[in-house]
Amino acid sequence: MTYKMLVDGELLDSALRLDVVNPATGAPWASAPRATAGQAELAVAAAKRAQPAWAALPIEQRRKVLLALADRIEADADTYARTIVAEQGKPLAEANLEVVHSCAFLRAFAGMTLEPEVLQDDAAYRIEVRHRPLGVVVAITPWNFPLLIAAYKLAPALLLGNTFILKPAPSTPLSALLLGEAAASLTPPGVVNVIVDDNDLGPLLSTHPDVQKISFTGSTATGRKVMANAASTLKRLTLELGGNDAAIVLEDADVARAAAGIYGGAFFNAGQVCIAVKRVYAHRNVYDALCDALAALARQAVVGDGSMQGVTVGPLQNEQQYAKAQHYMEIAHRDGTVIAGGQFRDGQGFFVQPTIVRDIGADSPLVTEEQFAPILPVLPYADLDDVVTEVNAGEYGLGGSIWSSNEAKATALSERLTSGTIWINHHLHFAPHVPFAGAKQSGLGAEFGDEGLAEFAQMTVVSLARTAA
Ligand code: NAD
Repeated sequence: MTYKMLVDGELLDSALRLDVVNPATGAPWASAPRATAGQAELAVAAAKRAQPAWAALPIEQRRKVLLALADRIEADADTYARTIVAEQGKPLAEANLEVVHSCAFLRAFAGMTLEPEVLQDDAAYRIEVRHRPLGVVVAITPWNFPLLIAAYKLAPALLLGNTFILKPAPSTPLSALLLGEAAASLTPPGVVNVIVDDNDLGPLLSTHPDVQKISFTGSTATGRKVMANAASTLKRLTLELGGNDAAIVLEDADVARAAAGIYGGAFFNAGQVCIAVKRVYAHRNVYDALCDALAALARQAVVGDGSMQGVTVGPLQNEQQYAKAQHYMEIAHRDGTVIAGGQFRDGQGFFVQPTIVRDIGADSPLVTEEQFAPILPVLPYADLDDVVTEVNAGEYGLGGSIWSSNEAKATALSERLTSGTIWINHHLHFAPHVPFAGAKQSGLGAEFGDEGLAEFAQMTVVSLARTAA
């Protein structure tokens, strides 16, 4: 299969190439074209040229394009899912889910709208807020959900009349290139562009004077660079960054339910999820039972190549992430008691056994840092105030969950946590109509919901005076 970039309506090859590694084998299995700086410039110029006509179309036509794109992806769901498994590593069932969610987000955004809002309409004034497209939107995406994150940035951008350039992570470019190929026949030239880089074109895009917005998902460290680069042209920015989500299990929680929910929230996609459970605080009266239940679930995991039937946990996505996991595994053995997992699978590929670590101190790096790997620390607590202080410490504030049979108590506790989302008795849930935002250094701005949609538009106030001042 040959993969091509999409620039100005043309499927483009390049003299520059990028090997795509299958994380289950550690070996290259495909090759992607990589854009030159000149091709990136062409993409920006094409997006700029195409934008006025795209914005001038009735919104109904843009909705139809999003729906058609969802239909096209759905029709090719198996190709997308297998490509995601081979480039990203997740089990096929999770890849299928990613494809389903990508279509669902495209369709949900197609049904959204940003109506003008009349703030005042009387004898003196008519004041109205309207929303106009920003212009050229660039999406810079990470490697953990290569299709879904691209789809949920593309949809609101296009709906509101912006044109779009997608730059996926270099280790997972292929599903983005498939998305570009699908968009090629459904959109006018320049409306959607997909270019691949080797971590080198981000600065060009985020400083470019003809780019009006960057929608970025990735690490906090790179988010800071994007923000600094975007400052020269004061671009609009949405930053969805790292997290260190805590699950707090209260004394009155249903332990079996909490264990199942926390296990799913921690080990989905081998723990490589921004909003994964990354640390657990359990009341000392339920601590042993919860640790045992989590360990039992971890021991049932079937770790292997995501394309094999029955596998529940795939490899980590790349070698660098694998090295990071090895570092955190050493810390797990040094700072705590490993009661499940604790090993790396022998042979090829970046495999880590789901690992539960108990009796670990709150200041261990496995607790205070984002591991982004299937190694979960579980801490006991006696005093909820201490937990609130510990959970709120640190630079991140993405999500978090509370597990309790007392809704009022859990809701009251949610008020004390400084994160963008707090789930009660579940974790890892997000949807197109629910705004998603990081507190502190987990992000800037929001995605999804009316708030997320509004970030792809320029608010314009039209204020009409009816009487002489
Ligand atoms: P990363 O920051 O290394 O890379 C993300 C993207 O930024 C890639 O496309 C990369 O090529 C690009 N990039 C690299 N240098 C750049 C620069 N100087 N300017 C502009 N772009 C540049 O992140 P990653 O390792 O791919 O993803 C893992 C991280 O992403 C984790 O920290 C995770 O928590 C976070 N993440 C957050 C969310 C969220 O919604 N909050 C979702 C998924 C992942």
